[in-house]
Amino acid sequence: MSSLVTAPIAIVAAMHEELGALLARMPDEQRVRIAGRDFWIGHLHGQPVVAVLSRIGKVAAAVTAAMLLERFAVRAIVFTGVAGGLAPGVKVGDVVVATQLLQHDLDASPIFPKYEVPLMGLSRFTADAAIGDALAAVAEETLRDPVALVGQGAVDEFGLQSPKVHRGLLVSGDRFVSTAAESEALRRQLPDALAVEMEGAAVAQACHDYGVPFAAIRTISDRADDEAHGDFARFVAEVASRYSLALVDAWLAGRPAAT
Ligand code: SAH
Repeated sequence: MSSLVTAPIAIVAAMHEELGALLARMPDEQRVRIAGRDFWIGHLHGQPVVAVLSRIGKVAAAVTAAMLLERFAVRAIVFTGVAGGLAPGVKVGDVVVATQLLQHDLDASPIFPKYEVPLMGLSRFTADAAIGDALAAVAEETLRDPVALVGQGAVDEFGLQSPKVHRGLLVSGDRFVSTAAESEALRRQLPDALAVEMEGAAVAQACHDYGVPFAAIRTISDRADDEAHGDFARFVAEVASRYSLALVDAWLAGRPAAT
């Protein structure tokens, strides 16, 4: 197959603050506006890429995923951005690479078990292992030098001296989790959940329907607790975009060129 016909990889984030730096790197991008979203079609490290901001929440994310799958026939979707840490060791500035994704606000019980997607018999969607392995390897490498990643000022301000990479369950729902009580309840109900966000599991479900690989890599912006709102806002404004750029850029640079 020639590279002219190689299907693109989709890079998705919810908000501009999470993907702005990466969009600025696409040298030859062409912008196509569909349903209120800008799809940036171009190349990064010789790889055909479509980058898009889904907007926030599961419906916005699922609609975006369906467009990427139908209109752009993407060969994989990678979601990046920020999330709230849930598990005890998952701290601000750490990175979570999802192995599984679940909708924590989906509950059609008693007709279906809590969290199960009705009529699918499934509550956890599996992320693509090969892409996840590659993203985790790149994240380990990138986080080794937090000063190079975000600068000394941000390292000191956010306490990013020794950020870590975690792999496991990422949960999504249409709620910004911003009280200690709510994150404690999530920890109790889903003890293996590493972090919470608002889009990933919806995109994972859409990709599952189409049989297209999906991966999610999220930087922890807050602890989903009573301080979450302030921590989230500062992290997103100051460093989130630099993380996404470094992680996704290094991953694409390491991928063998599309053939
Ligand atoms: N703009 C709003 C909130 C944005 S929602 C505000 O300033 O409060 C938060 C976004 O970041 C979502 O896209 C979600 O995926 C992710 N996120 C980060 N921390 C989160 C948390 N604690 N709970 C849920 N989503 C979180």
